[in-house]
Amino acid sequence: MTAYTVVDVGGTTLRVGRYDSDTDRVDDVRRMPTEGMDRYPGEPVPVLQRRVVGQLVDIAGAALARHGARRLAVAFAGPIDAAGRVTAAPTVWGRRGDPLPLRDLLRERLGRPVTVVNDLTAAAWRYVGGADQEAFCLITVSSGIGNKVFRAGEVLLHPDGHGGELGHWTCDPAPDAMPCDCGGRGHLGAVASGRGAVAAARRAAVADPVGYGGSVLAGAEVDAVALAAAVRADDPFATGVLRAGLRHLATAITAVFASIGVRRYVIIGGFALAVGPRYAALLTEALHRAGCFGLTPAEIDGMVVLGEPDDDHGLIGAGRLLTHTLPTPRPPAALLPRDLALVVAQNGTEGGDNRKIAGERAAGESGAADESGDGPGGVVCGF
Ligand SMILES: [Zn+2]
Repeated sequence: MTAYTVVDVGGTTLRVGRYDSDTDRVDDVRRMPTEGMDRYPGEPVPVLQRRVVGQLVDIAGAALARHGARRLAVAFAGPIDAAGRVTAAPTVWGRRGDPLPLRDLLRERLGRPVTVVNDLTAAAWRYVGGADQEAFCLITVSSGIGNKVFRAGEVLLHPDGHGGELGHWTCDPAPDAMPCDCGGRGHLGAVASGRGAVAAARRAAVADPVGYGGSVLAGAEVDAVALAAAVRADDPFATGVLRAGLRHLATAITAVFASIGVRRYVIIGGFALAVGPRYAALLTEALHRAGCFGLTPAEIDGMVVLGEPDDDHGLIGAGRLLTHTLPTPRPPAALLPRDLALVVAQNGTEGGDNRKIAGERAAGESGAADESGDGPGGVVCGF
């Protein structure tokens, strides 16, 4: 059994747990408020960065000891570059600030190999099966929208951390379009997220008082929970509101499909999963209307699936990322076929070409794999 300590840092909550690579499960999960701007509003970015690093050192250090783990993976709510630096963290410390070399800071303070990846990148790894994993796109629909594409053994990202930001694609160019958290307008995350759907429902209630009056939403405060429940109950007004937003999400999906051929879309996020199977059905309906060039109706029916209805994506995904991307332990040379043993002997230590022998998939499966051994200096970088 290999146990890893895994941490998921969100704007509100920090989770830490133990991932067991044999069972593919996470346990000893503990949750606590993140020491970011939610708790300390108005503090300068450098101060919040120091608070979060200090919290991670304390929490992860104790967990590593408790788990007997030799390696730590951190899923973080913000873009991460190839050097393991957090380049922005709008939900954790607000304004951009200087890039934070989180991986190197944790490695130095904890004396362990450390992986730092974006939280949605980690979540994508939760849905990676074997080496022949078909390409897929993970989409989260909650208060905003985010995505990551997994293809040819890796999550597709620029080394600077760009990618997976469909939520900030402008789907409504109108000057008075819905404002986005990022400061822009008409972005998919503002229009088709749970927050966007609630705002649309409130506007529709004013524009269509008769339809609203006949809805289960009439007379009550419309929030994401109520809206999701109304759609589950097939309420025509609520369903119409959701359909309008899904039209934009379907357009984004058809563009991803048309450009790189990804046919599988895994949907997670609090709002989508609260609506449940009806969400997948309505999104599939929107895909049929949008059309997917070259696909049969039956193939379009199979494009959208819902992810797991829990909040363990970052933890399990971070553990699975390590399991998939680290080299497998080198077997004793005596157990190898004779020619293979010779190659191992010629190439020498772990971290050299040996990893190509011990685990082909480890060498090429992810940009996250940059293994240099299990000692304190060993580092895995990722996005
Ligand atoms: Zn935006």
